[in-house]
Amino acid sequence: MTDKTGGPLVYVALGGAGEIGMNCYLYGLGEVRDRRWIMVDLGIGFGDMETAPGVELILPDLEFILGEKGRLEAIFLTHGHEDHVGAIPHLWAGLKVPVYARAFTAEIVRRKMSEAGLDPKIVRQVGLGERVEAGDFSVEWLAVNHSIPEASMLAIRTPVGTVVHTGDFKMDAEPQLGEPFDMAVLEALGSEGVLAVTCDSTNVFVRGESKSESSIIANLRARIEAAPRAVAATTFASNVARLRTLAMAAHDAGRSIVVVGRAMRRMIEMAVATGQLTDFPPVVAEDRIADIAPENLFYLVTGSQGEGRAALARIAAGSHPAVKLTEGDTVLFSSKNIPGNEANIYRLYNRLSEQGVRVIDGEMDHIHVSGHARRGDLKRVYAALKPQVSLPMHGEHRHLVEHVRLARRWGVPEALLAPNGAVVRLDGNAPGVVEQVETGRVYLDGRVQIGALDGVVRERLKLARNGQVVVAVVVDMDGDLIADPEVRCLGAPKHGPGWKAALDEMIARAVDDALEGAAKKAKRTDAALEQLITRAARGVAVHHWGKKPVMTVLITRLEDD
Ligand SMILES: [Zn+2]
Ligand SMILES: [Zn+2]
Repeated sequence: MTDKTGGPLVYVALGGAGEIGMNCYLYGLGEVRDRRWIMVDLGIGFGDMETAPGVELILPDLEFILGEKGRLEAIFLTHGHEDHVGAIPHLWAGLKVPVYARAFTAEIVRRKMSEAGLDPKIVRQVGLGERVEAGDFSVEWLAVNHSIPEASMLAIRTPVGTVVHTGDFKMDAEPQLGEPFDMAVLEALGSEGVLAVTCDSTNVFVRGESKSESSIIANLRARIEAAPRAVAATTFASNVARLRTLAMAAHDAGRSIVVVGRAMRRMIEMAVATGQLTDFPPVVAEDRIADIAPENLFYLVTGSQGEGRAALARIAAGSHPAVKLTEGDTVLFSSKNIPGNEANIYRLYNRLSEQGVRVIDGEMDHIHVSGHARRGDLKRVYAALKPQVSLPMHGEHRHLVEHVRLARRWGVPEALLAPNGAVVRLDGNAPGVVEQVETGRVYLDGRVQIGALDGVVRERLKLARNGQVVVAVVVDMDGDLIADPEVRCLGAPKHGPGWKAALDEMIARAVDDALEGAAKKAKRTDAALEQLITRAARGVAVHHWGKKPVMTVLITRLEDD
């Protein structure tokens, strides 16, 4: 494969190859100066209290592609999960290119665009097997199974070869919603010739082959039938196949189904509107609950990850307006505990447990199956596609390394570790990393996008760990106090062992003493004064409290009359 027309062909991840989340991948065709690009997916990651307190969302830093002015052709979406589409409403204005997706994904993104006050018409709907031309790229959508309707693999054809971008996928012969996995489609691509596969690494450590959605039906039904009173089940709102599986099991067990939580009602509505969901059992409205005996009730509720504002957390807290759970009721967690959410989830389990509610966990009991291919499935994908190059993605660094090792073992000629920012040349005799570009994270904090390295979050973490002391002084031109210093301590204890006074009083006295005893020269400028006050106040905190709070000094200097 030489660069006859269009080459070289390059790949680079701006997010997703080094974390599970924030997926954003680029493919470029042509010489560096006039290279044309396409983007696959543009998702978010979520902040956590540990590393980014208060941060709502994490977005990929698009500086690199923004620098390739006007040379991005379009964005192609594999499926509608937040880690693949969530950043579009926040970052699209900088890119202004068409977005292509299948119906269900397109509908999700259109709603997001409208809510953000942007034009939903930039999202263009494509069908299975349809090809979209963008520059010298031709992109085709192929159906795969996952945990959301219409998940797709992209076949990206270029003049120098075809790249198969798997997206998130699993293989399911009985998916309960959408088409069964069709290996023949991959085999056909394989015989057409595949240059590279950019492949999901989420479950690379899990041996064997993924289990079918159909494998949990009997167990779910048994659990629901055996429950003495009301049953509530939770899963991700976008896992429409699971919502259907759960609702069918409850319906067969003779229970009335109530859907609780806006996100879930919306997903069901969209799946019906786009023709995905045709046989969802009848549901009853929340205001009918009182008419139905608890042993005949089945709730589908949002909040499987312990999210504070979701329905299940509110039910557990007793603050949900319509749904109450009590002694003898059962909650089924038909979902995975996403790493980082465990603390919230276990808090929720305990809250429910304290009220006599039985909690059945999807990781202990077989009432959940993953939406990602296991090791055995990955092996079958490589065997069918027979690519020259394997590019592991959708994984933390350790997942990518393991995936590279396995791909080599399975006989893929080149398996490349390409973390975010590594530009890989795919065509030519020796595919490999040719360049490194800037990547990073942008935090969405309230309505403002801030760089992860801007220091805002670092400062917030310091405040969270050490508290803050504010000292305000009014001084004359010599720096002598005109009034007593004002001190406020935030996130600090007021009294401690052996303290003769409250912390703020001790600090005020120390500041007073320090200014009293200081030479005139040390008080003449505000900078010097601030240093003096900081040292005195922090000294008290370190000595008595044993911590170094964030210091804020406010100086008002009054002119002498
Ligand atoms: Zn996904
Ligand atoms: Zn994903």
